[in-house]
Amino acid sequence: MVKKFFVPRGTSDILPADTGIWQSLEIVVRKTLHIYGYKEIRTPVFEETGLFIRSIGATTDVVQKQMLQLAAQGGENESIALSGLALRPEGTAAVARAYIENNFDKVEPLSKLYYIGPMFRGERPQKGRLRQFHQIGVEAMGPQSGSPYLDAEMISLSVRILERLGLKDFQLKINSLGTREDKAAFSETLRTGLQPFLDTLCDDCRSRYERNVFRILDCKNKSCKNIVQRLNISDAHLSPASRLYFQEVCRILDGLGVRYVHAPAMVRGLDYYTHTVFEISDPSLGSQDALGAGGRYNTLVQELGGVDVDAMGFALGIERLLLAMPEQKTPASPQNMDVYMIALGQNSCEEGFRFLHALRGAGISCDMGYRPASMKSQMRQAGKSGARLVLIFGEEERQRGVVTLKDMAQGDQKDVPSSELVEVVRRALS
Ligand code: AMP
Repeated sequence: MVKKFFVPRGTSDILPADTGIWQSLEIVVRKTLHIYGYKEIRTPVFEETGLFIRSIGATTDVVQKQMLQLAAQGGENESIALSGLALRPEGTAAVARAYIENNFDKVEPLSKLYYIGPMFRGERPQKGRLRQFHQIGVEAMGPQSGSPYLDAEMISLSVRILERLGLKDFQLKINSLGTREDKAAFSETLRTGLQPFLDTLCDDCRSRYERNVFRILDCKNKSCKNIVQRLNISDAHLSPASRLYFQEVCRILDGLGVRYVHAPAMVRGLDYYTHTVFEISDPSLGSQDALGAGGRYNTLVQELGGVDVDAMGFALGIERLLLAMPEQKTPASPQNMDVYMIALGQNSCEEGFRFLHALRGAGISCDMGYRPASMKSQMRQAGKSGARLVLIFGEEERQRGVVTLKDMAQGDQKDVPSSELVEVVRRALS
């Protein structure tokens, strides 16, 4: 028995039947981002592992449990060893790395960047949770990015993307973690509050208590949730300046008519967030209901060896967006051919293939069956291709120097001199 190969666990093929919807989503997203002044950046799908550890945080679940590292040693034969590298679990770290490496801060006061591409996390696969998934990521960094208007732009932009994709029932939660110092005070308050309940927390949360106490707030375990609720978490950890900043963000959002809920217990799992954080969920998605999330990361660029510039970003998960989107009827890219060539007999096949080459050269989409087959079976293929025009080219046509052109919608047909074929087809399609 020959071994068969299957798509790796937690990944999926996006088949031609679905790529149309992916493309229409991407068109809407790119258009919206262009309107807001964001430009695309493409970084590699793998980076030095240390970049992710330093930015996302050594104690986070993403780094501790989900990093997909490339082989530490060369495999058999002469495979190239790619040690110290990991597949990217998210895009922010790589964009910050590229920002620093290319000295963007010297070129422009505010770099507004976006990416669309695959991310990789070693998760236990389930509906809506994959090992390879796709994100739309948006980041703004630079000396001029420390403004509450940018927070409001990021949040309202993420909402607008969802609206333009036809989503209606999503919920936006926002919060402020404050500065690094405010965050440290917040984690101390949490530890003090949770101390009496340590024995009742789940095993995971007991270790989170030391490692990363914020993660306890995201625990799905019922008894942990109850304990967190009893803490009555407020924004008491915020310094007056941080509170004022957050009030400004809320005021600007109110002015834009963006609807949100202030959730003081909402924190983000990754270490680099400061000040404003937000999450968008859609209850129709069940247990994996997060459509996207983001926030400020004012210290990250400097922590990665760059200049001291503020920054903010967010990421939306494309698979989740597609699950939450209303049924799409019209694929973005044309799936139908303009022309189908039916060649009958070996000689006609050869010459027909040359016509195909010429038509394609003129930008006309066309196809043929390549192997001589009966008129009936080729007509069936032509029907399937959705072509508006069918060209019939048999031995008799070849001898006469013509091609028969059939209009599939009208049903009529006529002979066209071979030398005029491209021009006549072009006119018939216009
Ligand atoms: P995060 O970087 O974890 O905040 O993720 C941002 C968004 O990416 C989430 O809200 C999801 O929509 C999506 N996402 C994250 N992890 C996965 C995954 N394993 N499978 C599918 N989508 C994911």
